[in-house]
Amino acid sequence: MELSDCIERQFSGASQWSEASIEEALRGIPELRELASPLATDPEAGHAYGRNVVYADERIEAIVVHLPPGAATAVHDHGRSVGCAIVLEGRMTNETYRVEASGKARRIETATHEAGQWMRSPAGVVHRMRNDGAERLVSLHVYAPPLRGMRRYDAETER
Ligand code: FE
Repeated sequence: MELSDCIERQFSGASQWSEASIEEALRGIPELRELASPLATDPEAGHAYGRNVVYADERIEAIVVHLPPGAATAVHDHGRSVGCAIVLEGRMTNETYRVEASGKARRIETATHEAGQWMRSPAGVVHRMRNDGAERLVSLHVYAPPLRGMRRYDAETER
C-alpha cells in the first residue's frame, strides 16, 4: 500500500486531531520510514529545502521534508495547526523560539533528533529545523488542521 492510502486509512476515524493522537495514528503504519523516505523531493529553485505534500484533506496535511546538508528552514510558526513529525533519515537539529515583545524571535532551546525519533509541535510553537550533518535529513510531518497562515520571524542576533 502507498503512504497516502495508509494515512487516509489511519486518519479516517476522527475529524479532530491532537499532536499526541497524530503520533499514535502514524505509529500504526507498518514500515512508515520505508514508505515515506523515497517520497523526499529535491529543493525547488530558490528554496532551501524540498517539500512534498504527500496527503491532504480538510482535516490533516502530511508533508515529507528534505533538508540537504547545511540547509535550514526559516524561523516559523504553524498558524493554528498542531503537528507531529518523525525523522526518517539523518539527524535533525530543532531550535525552539519565543517571540519577544519586539516581534523578534529568541532561541530558547536546541534539541537533536535521530532517525526514528518523534517530535511533537503543540499549538503556537515557533521553531526552525537545521541539518548540521553530512547526510541528507528527511522527515515526515503531519499537521491538523492543514497548514494555513504560517508566519516567519526574524531571529534576534545572538551574542
Ligand atoms: Fe515547522
